[in-house]
Amino acid sequence: MRAVRYDGTGLYLSDIPAPVAGPGQVVLEVTAAGLCHSDLAVMSRPPEALPYKLPITLGHEAVGVVVDVGAGISGLAEGDTVAVYGPHGCGACRTCRSGAENHCPHARAAGILPPGLGADGALADYLLVPHSRHLVPLRGLDPVRAAPLTDAGLTSYHAVRSALPRLPPDGTALLIGIGGLGHLAVQILRALSSAQIIAVDMAADKRELALRCGADTALPSTDTVPDQVRDLTEGVGADVVFDFVASDATLRMAARSLRPGGEISIVGVGEGRLPVAVNLVPLGAVVRTPYWGTQSDLVDVLALAREGRITVEVEEYALEETPLAYERLARGNVRGRAVVNPARAPGNAPGQACAEEQRG
Ligand code: NAD
Ligand code: ZN
Ligand code: ZN
Repeated sequence: MRAVRYDGTGLYLSDIPAPVAGPGQVVLEVTAAGLCHSDLAVMSRPPEALPYKLPITLGHEAVGVVVDVGAGISGLAEGDTVAVYGPHGCGACRTCRSGAENHCPHARAAGILPPGLGADGALADYLLVPHSRHLVPLRGLDPVRAAPLTDAGLTSYHAVRSALPRLPPDGTALLIGIGGLGHLAVQILRALSSAQIIAVDMAADKRELALRCGADTALPSTDTVPDQVRDLTEGVGADVVFDFVASDATLRMAARSLRPGGEISIVGVGEGRLPVAVNLVPLGAVVRTPYWGTQSDLVDVLALAREGRITVEVEEYALEETPLAYERLARGNVRGRAVVNPARAPGNAPGQACAEEQRG
């Protein structure tokens, strides 16, 4: 089968054996795989700094059709269309049994790694899923628009749900970075809260997307954001700040925009640092570093999409066009989420004409 592999030096399309489902396992034919900014973070690190061996197949946002069901599985049949819950835990501990496999304290030591982030991922014709509990039925959702819900949607939903107790109905949420995650976080907030939503992005088209997604205000990313947030909140500041970038500049912006007793949710995996001590962040502040989401968060986020409360803005690519899609993501040119559809023929990728012109 075809697979987009990363070996520590670059991406390449490879022909590798298709997986076969062992006992308790499932193989999916991938119908869509989303590209996340975290993949760029992985590819920017020295290979020896990664907690797993290369090469691997990338892709940690997946939906597909069941084509091979291992022995001992019931309630799943060939032809079922499913989304993949990515943050696999041990499945047995108290945390996993609560559905929060994203916080399993045993997974790393047991060598359990998410698809595309240690195990072979979804940028391929087929994906091996190690246990049927990781699969959630799509129930009518369009695969290409549903794939990003498994990470961009799930992570945003988890971050928003965790912060909701600190966001009163007449409060204010500030979101920094309106990309794949951010544009869904705006919609999720709109669906779950009546709070004022202020979005910040350095790109004008992302600010326009934020407003279309339901933000009340969209601001360029400048040093004046904290003052503007205070002007928009009668001098109080934001109740909750979601930072989908996490550079030194955006974390400073987050701390300076926050009200006393508010919450900073650091979702981005940028290299920035936020010094936390009395008088460095507002009194009573809570700082959270959410990671992906729980199993029930995924069920909820798929339900929000089915209800038409959230819609993923997508750019669709063929498998062969994955490097071009990552290039566009790195340059900040992807609006919403780039999604690879392995069944799509190459030749009509967004931005392809530009890339070809640039290459001469
Ligand atoms: P993306 O590239 O789609 O979006 C990033 C957005 O931030 C873009 O719109 C860009 O214009 C904007 N931006 C960049 N620098 C900015 C600045 N200084 N001020 C304001 N806006 C700025 O990325 P994504 O896939 O949505 O991921 C967002 C972040 O979340 C990444 O760091 C990613 O690695 C991380 N992530 C974390 C988790 C988790 O579990 N915590 C899960 C998925 C992704
Ligand atoms: Zn991701
Ligand atoms: Zn566990």
